[in-house]
Amino acid sequence: MRTNALKRVSNKSKKRAFDERPPIVKGEARERNCSVGRTVDILGDSWTFMILRECLFGARRFETFQSILGLPRGTLATRLKKLTSQGLLRQVQYSDRPVRSEYRLTKMGMDLYPVFLSFIRFGDDWESKKKGPPLQLIHLECGAECVPEVACSHCREAVVINRVSYRDGPGAGTTPLERTARRRRSSDPTRIEKSRPCSVARTLGTIGDYWAFMVMREGFFGVTRFDEIQSNIDIAPNILTDRLNRLVRDNVFDRRKYLDAPERFEYRFTAKGRDLYQTMIAMLRWGDKWLSREEPPLILTHLDCNHDFDPMVVCSKCREPVHARGMKYEMRYPDPLKRKK
Ligand SMILES: [Zn+2]
Ligand SMILES: [Zn+2]
Repeated sequence: MRTNALKRVSNKSKKRAFDERPPIVKGEARERNCSVGRTVDILGDSWTFMILRECLFGARRFETFQSILGLPRGTLATRLKKLTSQGLLRQVQYSDRPVRSEYRLTKMGMDLYPVFLSFIRFGDDWESKKKGPPLQLIHLECGAECVPEVACSHCREAVVINRVSYRDGPGAGTTPLERTARRRRSSDPTRIEKSRPCSVARTLGTIGDYWAFMVMREGFFGVTRFDEIQSNIDIAPNILTDRLNRLVRDNVFDRRKYLDAPERFEYRFTAKGRDLYQTMIAMLRWGDKWLSREEPPLILTHLDCNHDFDPMVVCSKCREPVHARGMKYEMRYPDPLKRKK
């Protein structure tokens, strides 16, 4: 399996990996190895996402998460336990008597920061038009007010859809499809935004859930037709119809008829949909780094500079990569963490 994948890398380097369908073994559902898929498995749940967001804002203790997010204690406990076992949080004891511990981000968790920034940028651009962005970001290294941009690690220029080609990396292949609770619709992001205005929540609202995300992923690989999407991600037809309708309603896809009899439609990204691409590849990079043991299933080439690259999130002013400790925020709303501490 592995040797096969490696062999494929060496030939026809610029071929789009997704032209090659994974072999479907009869009676066994399989899915393409994809870091975005694995990342969505972890982040696809809105509560999980919101807990991580609060961690990045400095929350550490159970009671703090609970009072800010207002989610049931049982739900919170389950999510924290899961995030700890997945390696994003670690428990640190802060009191002996009584024994109490708090949650801190690990390196893996901290590295989600650029992914969050890409969510913030998308939400600011597309979902916060009326009220303006909830946070103004200031890059401490250059002192400028900036917006985060997903850029090419080689030339540092912004990476946009259609200017990237793909080929199989050492981690390419397929894995048996697991059927677990993650396929459920995730919690409603509008509920989550009650605690603080948040472009991350707004972006999550657009992305929706695991299935919507997988449908969009296919779109980014150029798959536009119902039947093809359905067979690639093994989704139930009624769920696929539902997600496509929602994505059309949210102005992510345009629906176009390509055949009259029988009537057939294809789904193509709108400008807003194309812009989500940056968010997708920021997640891809995180997933490749932390979930693929340095064996990315896909290798990306930036067509503007003709180099293989890793997506990185940079400051729009100085083009240097941004990290959690190198940014300052100005909140344009009362900070619930200060209010409730
Ligand atoms: Zn480049
Ligand atoms: Zn800067």
